[in-house]
Amino acid sequence: MVFGIGKNKTAPAVPGVASAMPRDGQVKGGRPMSGLMQDWPMTVDKVLEHARINHGFREVITRTVEGPVVRQTYAEIYDRSKQVSAALLEDGMQIGDRIATLAWNTGRHMETWYGTMCVGGVLHTVNPRLFPEQIAWIINHAGDTHLFFDITFLPIVEAIHDKCPTLRRFVLLTDEAHMPKDAKVPNLVAYETYIAGKSKDVEWGNFDEKTACGLCYTSGTTGDPKGVLYSHRSNVLHALMGAQKDALGIGVSDVVLPVVPMFHANAWGITFLAPLVGAGLVMPGAKMDGASIYELLDSEKVTFSAAVPTVWLTLLQHLESNNLKLPHLERVVIGGSAVPERILRAFEENYQVEVIHAWGMTEMSPMGSLGSMTPEVKAKGRDETVRYKLKQGRPPFGVEMKIIDDDGNDVPRDGKTSGHLMVRGWAVANAYFKGAGGNILDENGYFDTGDVANICPYGFMQITDRAKDVIKSGGEWISSIDIENIAVGHPAVAVAAAIGLPHPKWDERPLLIIELKPGATATREDILNYLNGKIAKWWMPDDVAFVDKVPLGATGKINKLQLRETFKNHRLPTVQAAE
Ligand code: ADP
Repeated sequence: MVFGIGKNKTAPAVPGVASAMPRDGQVKGGRPMSGLMQDWPMTVDKVLEHARINHGFREVITRTVEGPVVRQTYAEIYDRSKQVSAALLEDGMQIGDRIATLAWNTGRHMETWYGTMCVGGVLHTVNPRLFPEQIAWIINHAGDTHLFFDITFLPIVEAIHDKCPTLRRFVLLTDEAHMPKDAKVPNLVAYETYIAGKSKDVEWGNFDEKTACGLCYTSGTTGDPKGVLYSHRSNVLHALMGAQKDALGIGVSDVVLPVVPMFHANAWGITFLAPLVGAGLVMPGAKMDGASIYELLDSEKVTFSAAVPTVWLTLLQHLESNNLKLPHLERVVIGGSAVPERILRAFEENYQVEVIHAWGMTEMSPMGSLGSMTPEVKAKGRDETVRYKLKQGRPPFGVEMKIIDDDGNDVPRDGKTSGHLMVRGWAVANAYFKGAGGNILDENGYFDTGDVANICPYGFMQITDRAKDVIKSGGEWISSIDIENIAVGHPAVAVAAAIGLPHPKWDERPLLIIELKPGATATREDILNYLNGKIAKWWMPDDVAFVDKVPLGATGKINKLQLRETFKNHRLPTVQAAE
């Protein structure tokens, strides 16, 4: 099978409009009658305004980068965001200017976020885990004018500032007392000084809801990074989607800890969703190790949290080795990569914490599907429920998805037939910033996610691979995700990654790469014996390799590109036999 044919079946370019959508004045039978309801633009200032009026005393707690835990309220965040707006406007910011951040999840980052967006600036969260050259490339492509950054990232900013000519103001997210004396960055000011004494009465909003609001670049594992430009409307609608009970479903009695960073697809929308519903927020700052996260979960009585699987693995290891419990935590969202069964069962069975497995991508703001259970599945019993929870879930209202084959035909929703996963919706990208990648929608307005998936009769979508990671053996696809998820069930295995290596007879065969838990031992045969009987015979890896550390990319996912490079000369034992 050839990948990407569906992607190439694109519509003639109609800027800003997916051709399947109705256009004004084109309705059969004349012009439509307008409803007589208020035209209240969906802009994100309304979210924080709502929080100030109705949940002004609810807390936003930050473990600051400087160290201490600081307590603010939504009312304080609102006032200080206004001061950020005033400071930016005095500093010459124009509507549409891109304001970059290299920052952890903190109250100050949130103030910069709303302070920028609410006066028509575009908040550009840059992922600090990228290489400095990539960061400079992204800042230049975006044409950012200001950079707000945490002290952690001073060395990066010192290394790149003179390579980024559009940056004219650098704001260090700290106060005078913590300003380094010898920072080699021009036009540098402490955040607290930048906003001190500024007006809290700046007018917010009052522009079109389609105005650009946020910018986030994809990691660029294939080609240059591409910018996803969110609008006010898409962000508000995405937050409302998240508030659905079977989506994130948080409310006023929740205390939410987004471990997922704001620079990773808007902390999955939580920075909008929590103030929208009045949930308390706990911002973890720079510390995301198991012990630090546990400490906040416990001391702040967090009820809801969200992170990628690797973060949860370190938390679970910390809990297990210190014999700790999670009495307050009710639910966790796990996404970004597939949830291994071991994590799911540990949370639900050992700690009574419900797991919501979610799938999404930067281009989708990012929510695409969530694994809340349906009564039909629950009725099948615990083991079946777990099997369904390991799938990537069902789309919330606002996302439409379908699976097509290489010729663009819909494949049956039988839970078996895999194909290209296509999506559309009001928080899905229409195009990339500055036209990168050209027209990215097909003739029906669907975006090709680059994932290979199937959908079952109950509507649960299951990712079997990323199109570029799929292992093609004898004309069939082997799911690297399935092999990995089963392999991490072995008690000695910390991380598992399956990649395809060339094979003269089968095209490709799987190599399984293993990082063992600290102090644990296992041989190639132990791992293969463990897999035997748990996966189809022809999916069995041809070889197992051990590494000290499986490399992770900038959003905490296994970096398969690097693994393929490292193991490109690895000779599978079965190759010789086939030659
Ligand atoms: P990046 O490649 O920059 O990390 P995203 O964070 O937008 O980009 O990642 C989106 C991709 O992550 C999806 O297309 C999918 O391949 C993968 N992904 C996200 N959530 C899951 C999940 N729950 N299970 C499997 N894959 C996932």
